[in-house]
Amino acid sequence: MRTLIISDIHANLNALEAVLDAAEPFDRVWCLGDVVGYGPDPNECIERLRDLPELECVKGNHDAAIIGEIDMAAFNYEAQASLDWLARVIKPRNYAWLDSLGERIVLGETTLVHGSPRNPVWEYIMDIETAQINMNGFETDVCLIGHTHIPCIFQLEDVRTQDVGWYLLLPGNIFYIDRKAIINPGSVGQPRDHDPRAAFMIYDDELGQWSFHRATYDIESVQKRIRAAGLPHHHASRLAQGW
Ligand code: ZN
Repeated sequence: MRTLIISDIHANLNALEAVLDAAEPFDRVWCLGDVVGYGPDPNECIERLRDLPELECVKGNHDAAIIGEIDMAAFNYEAQASLDWLARVIKPRNYAWLDSLGERIVLGETTLVHGSPRNPVWEYIMDIETAQINMNGFETDVCLIGHTHIPCIFQLEDVRTQDVGWYLLLPGNIFYIDRKAIINPGSVGQPRDHDPRAAFMIYDDELGQWSFHRATYDIESVQKRIRAAGLPHHHASRLAQGW
């Protein structure tokens, strides 16, 4: 079975469509949260996502903010501006769908969260020390995370010393996991690793193989819709830089 793994779509429909095209064929989809926030297509992205086969999706911090679970004051000014806009345009049935998302899903030997296993919605795993602490926060072989928008793997190299290795991912990378690991597939709709292409991962459970990929998409058309919606211009300009 081929699983498409995506995260941080951030209401960018062109990026989501490009990933779905590039990832074919796949049998099921795991999504690691932040479906909305920043981008111009929140309703369209939720509706597209909901139609995907065997979808499993956890809640991100932007998803939690729009349904009132996180105080908007916890976000920076530009993120708040897009959350204010989102609150006005989100359709009731899509709001209800965001509200229905859980913070943690366990599927066999894989745990899905947005931020980190010990703090599923809010903590960023941006360094080895934080990854090390979090290795004890899940029981499965693998924990999939999003939130930082940086595609990478943290792997427990030595159970005795708790040594953790940190590996950044490049398009075309294929890997096999034989130790406890925290894996981040990067961001579909707002990459922050200086590569503006949409990021995604494929897991083939028959081969035990994970692979990392990028998909090009029409960034300009998304930028136009961001500006037309009156969203912060920085959300548009940063798409072209992947930062
Ligand atoms: Zn995000």
